[in-house]
Amino acid sequence: MNKRWTIGEIKEFVENNSESQLLTTEYQGFSQKLQFKCSCGSNFEKTFTKFKNNNQRKCDLCEPPKESR
Ligand SMILES: [Zn+2]
Repeated sequence: MNKRWTIGEIKEFVENNSESQLLTTEYQGFSQKLQFKCSCGSNFEKTFTKFKNNNQRKCDLCEPPKESR
């Protein structure tokens, strides 16, 4: 079963597990793109699923997306 996350829990997860900050203040569901602020100062957006499960915890400049070929 998938856990239902609240925005507070997500914020805590982001703070404890990455150097990024969560800017979004409302969580509407797993398909929603959340706004993050990377430690380099850039903002980026990603779904929480990608952030958490795919370990995409920085902006595309610090951590370029891997191309699937
Ligand atoms: Zn960055």
